[in-house]
Amino acid sequence: MLHAQGAASIMRAMKILLRLMLVLVAGAAVVAQEPANGFRERAIAMTRDALRTHNSHALLGRLLQYAPKRLAGSPGAKDAAEWGVAEMKAIGLKNVHLEEVTVPVWDMGAVCRVQVLHADGTVTELRALPLGGSEPTPQGGVEAEVLAVKSFGQLRALGDAAKGKLIFFARPFDTSLLSAGQAYGESVVQRGQGAIEAAKVGGVGALVRSAGSGGLEDDFPHTGAMNYADDGVRVPACALSLKAAEALNKALDAAAGKPVRVRWVQDCANKGTGPGWNVVGDIPGALTPQEIVLIGGHIDAWPAGDGAHDDGAGCAHVLEAARIILGSGAAPRRTVRCVLFANEENGLAGGKGYALQHLAELPQHVAALESDSGGFAPRGVGVGGGKAQLEAMADLALHLQALNLGTVKPGGGGADISPMAAHGVPQLSLEVAGERYFDLHHTAKDKIENVHPRELALGAAVLGITALHLADAPTNLPRQAAK
Ligand SMILES: [Zn+2]
Repeated sequence: MLHAQGAASIMRAMKILLRLMLVLVAGAAVVAQEPANGFRERAIAMTRDALRTHNSHALLGRLLQYAPKRLAGSPGAKDAAEWGVAEMKAIGLKNVHLEEVTVPVWDMGAVCRVQVLHADGTVTELRALPLGGSEPTPQGGVEAEVLAVKSFGQLRALGDAAKGKLIFFARPFDTSLLSAGQAYGESVVQRGQGAIEAAKVGGVGALVRSAGSGGLEDDFPHTGAMNYADDGVRVPACALSLKAAEALNKALDAAAGKPVRVRWVQDCANKGTGPGWNVVGDIPGALTPQEIVLIGGHIDAWPAGDGAHDDGAGCAHVLEAARIILGSGAAPRRTVRCVLFANEENGLAGGKGYALQHLAELPQHVAALESDSGGFAPRGVGVGGGKAQLEAMADLALHLQALNLGTVKPGGGGADISPMAAHGVPQLSLEVAGERYFDLHHTAKDKIENVHPRELALGAAVLGITALHLADAPTNLPRQAAK
């Protein structure tokens, strides 16, 4: 009996031991997924705060009401900066102030009329917008034969045949690519450089097929920045809607080699330079306030629409991220700095100015994170640099995945924070579902009705969670190789 009792008690002891080991193993598993104590709970609370209040959408609504047209250098840009200061103060940010930079002043004008003059005397109106920074057409407009090309190489090979012509850059957006951003990048070259290439061959203007991913019936032209050579002739440039570009293709096909003439009038104007303002405010760090995690978007927008996605959404993301961090009761060890950059669309004076004015502080900028891809559902965070930076963000990836907010991906950054890359500041970006962005980008359709409140809120949550994670991490993200 004694023996049997002894065996039973040993069995019991072994069962207890086994249970204990299971608890320990389970505990270890939990520890591996939850490296930062309480962070997951805080991240959930921040996300639910953003979702419950839809405050990011309200913020965006106020920006678009107060400063719907806010291209750098325009009167609305000052309104937008004032709005940014008021919102930052209302959230409770500290050291809220404006930092002045010098920006280009370009007026889009009121007229951009492009007409195909058919041989039978009929006219087809083509919907178009001046490209940003373009000169106007000469007094009374320009009328000339159209020459369509799909590449700069093809244009150069035409030689004298291009002289005196309106050059139609007709290459379509490559919808077969997996990344809409990559397709945009390839398409936008003809917008950026078209006028330079047209002038080189003696062309009198550039008609550019919009860098847009909409359907062939889409009649909303996409404006955007274009360039001139310092020593070249400055010919006017405009963007044709996809429908207009298709109509021009059709007219050229129908003419079967005979000349097709276009008449074009636009009254945009370059007006030198003027002041612009970066809007800056901080959540001061509780332990090492001199170390800065910067989150930013750009407050300027093309006046074609209201810049609701580009980049009103980014501004709303930044401010809402700060609000939900503060609302969670967190006191991050490093400073979280919010910056609404003054001038991304027609120049980069905001980002360049910030990097210059904060040069001495840049070694203490532990990360810069930009939202400039629209207010769509988040897919996580893009991280610049390489393996070292990605590994340092592995914990964050687990948190984002657990909340169904995407993950951490290689490759990140943004135009406004790019000047800081030269000083090794790690570059990150909010990544969102980009499928529809290039339907709306730089068009009259970039309005608040195309920004979904829940999607916008979730983007703000990702930005807030990421900023808090970086600001409270036990060690700094590895610096990037300066470039
Ligand atoms: Zn943008």
